[in-house]
Amino acid sequence: MKEIGLSFLEKIVRTRTVESFRFQLPQALDFIPGQFSQVIFDELNRDNKELNKYLSFSSSPTKKYIEVTKRLSESKFSQRLNVLKVNDELLFKTPLGSCVFQDSYKKIAFLIGGIGITPVISIIEYIMDKKLDTDVCLIYSNRTEEEIAFKNELDGWKLKNKNIKVSYVVTDCPPREATCIFGRIDEGLLKKYMCDMSQRVIFTFGPPKMVEAMNNLCLGMGCSKEQIKTEQFIGY
Ligand SMILES: Cc1cc2nc3c(=O)[nH]c(=O)nc-3n(C[C@H](O)[C@H](O)[C@H](O)COP(=O)(O)OP(=O)(O)OC[C@H]3O[C@@H](n4cnc5c(N)ncnc54)[C@H](O)[C@@H]3O)c2cc1C
Repeated sequence: MKEIGLSFLEKIVRTRTVESFRFQLPQALDFIPGQFSQVIFDELNRDNKELNKYLSFSSSPTKKYIEVTKRLSESKFSQRLNVLKVNDELLFKTPLGSCVFQDSYKKIAFLIGGIGITPVISIIEYIMDKKLDTDVCLIYSNRTEEEIAFKNELDGWKLKNKNIKVSYVVTDCPPREATCIFGRIDEGLLKKYMCDMSQRVIFTFGPPKMVEAMNNLCLGMGCSKEQIKTEQFIGY
């Protein structure tokens, strides 16, 4: 783990409330897909939880840049991210976290709600870039279709790689697109869209309540503790 100052490159709008921020990498940064950084605006007071927050990588270590993605809010941290200008330097403490993908995993699954998608993007982008034959099943839930971040990227990867399956779930109103499922991630849905879950390493990232609910669901359906990997986005 180290601290590294990185130059801001560009902002990418993902949805009405979710934006990605890319930073230039002067040299290769060793991290494993699934890991995160502490993004530090207040260098003098490292305990400042308002200005120093954890964000997962939403890009693969195979890229020449790193990307983080934030659900924007009214917070000071969100405001500081939003006013970054090209070449502004920002301090990263990185890499952190042990909920990671390993090349040896042959079949994996993701049970994700909302902003928990960020490390999933890092992992799938890595699988694509390294041309791994990992079998991926992503179940990705959002309130509405408009809130589905990274849909273009996921749809593109799904088209290019037959081992990548993505099911979009929306909870709040019936979706317009026939490919989206209206409902919640529950036992019935998993039996229908992930019948081989006992064979998979299952990842769940995101807000603590979502992660806890998915963990309990998997355990209730007979998965072993060792099979489930969780990372809670504390702060939601
Ligand atoms: C490992 C990890 C990875 C994460 N990855 C991402 C990511 O990729 N994208 C993303 O958007 N977010 C991610 N988060 C969450 C992120 O760090 C922020 O906490 C979250 O985005 C809310 O920040 P905010 O500035 O918008 O909200 P704020 O307005 O600052 O906070 C929202 C609410 O959370 C409470 N809160 C804030 N910080 C903490 C804390 N440290 N402990 C307990 N309660 C707190 C506040 O009191 C408030 O009620 C991650 C968190 C962790 C731990």
